[in-house]
Amino acid sequence: MTTHDEHTHADSSDDSETFERTFDDGERLVLHDEPADGTPAAFVALDTASCTGTECQCHEVELLVQPLTLVDGELVEGDGTPLQALLDAESGEISVEAEPEPGSEEALLLARLRRLAQDETLDLLQDRWRRGRRQEDPDEWKETDWAALDLETMVPFLEIFPSRWDISVFVDGHKYWVIDFWCLTPDCPCTQVALDFLAEEDDATEHLVVDLETNEPDDPEATEGARRLWAAFRETPGALEELAARREATRRVARELPALLESE
Ligand SMILES: [Zn+2]
Ligand SMILES: [Zn+2]
Repeated sequence: MTTHDEHTHADSSDDSETFERTFDDGERLVLHDEPADGTPAAFVALDTASCTGTECQCHEVELLVQPLTLVDGELVEGDGTPLQALLDAESGEISVEAEPEPGSEEALLLARLRRLAQDETLDLLQDRWRRGRRQEDPDEWKETDWAALDLETMVPFLEIFPSRWDISVFVDGHKYWVIDFWCLTPDCPCTQVALDFLAEEDDATEHLVVDLETNEPDDPEATEGARRLWAAFRETPGALEELAARREATRRVARELPALLESE
């Protein structure tokens, strides 16, 4: 527990709260196509851009698929031309502006894309469409089940704005999801954010409290591992800007929440 000022900010490392969440940062997906029809197996990169119109009725996700080749143990973009396609997130159908010539490289790539964009990957792409359209929605927090949350403790951003892309950090080639916890006490002068780092591979966790006035850890109990993760996160382009934007968004929620709760 982290005590400061008049109130207590508990953090998630103190209890065994688990998140039922598919973490997704909206970034490039790397997929492995292993066709059963004798076509050689291959890795492809899939970049997605979904419609961000909260009120828009379309179900469109733009896809860009590109072959990858293995060079010295690393997957890099090959010489092949990327293929543009459109996913209808409702039907799961993939369309292209013009069907490629049978037997061409584009046709092969389109067949790979259609094979890959099924089952779990289709679920993920549909979830991206759902989340994409709420990215810029400033009012999503009004749909949160506030009665189920303890406002005496810091609240995870993903409970307040569940659609926003998750944030992550890489350390030594390992990816960690970053879960950020915010104070929602109106007029509270605190400037802290509590961070949980969750290893994508094995669910190992580290925890740290940071003072956003200085961007330095404010946590005597933080482990060396947590300090390294914060140091790497701080160096990640856009990371501090994202935390600043989240701080601003959660301060606004803190100001407006009492009126919403009273009106219910
Ligand atoms: Zn749209
Ligand atoms: Zn506070």
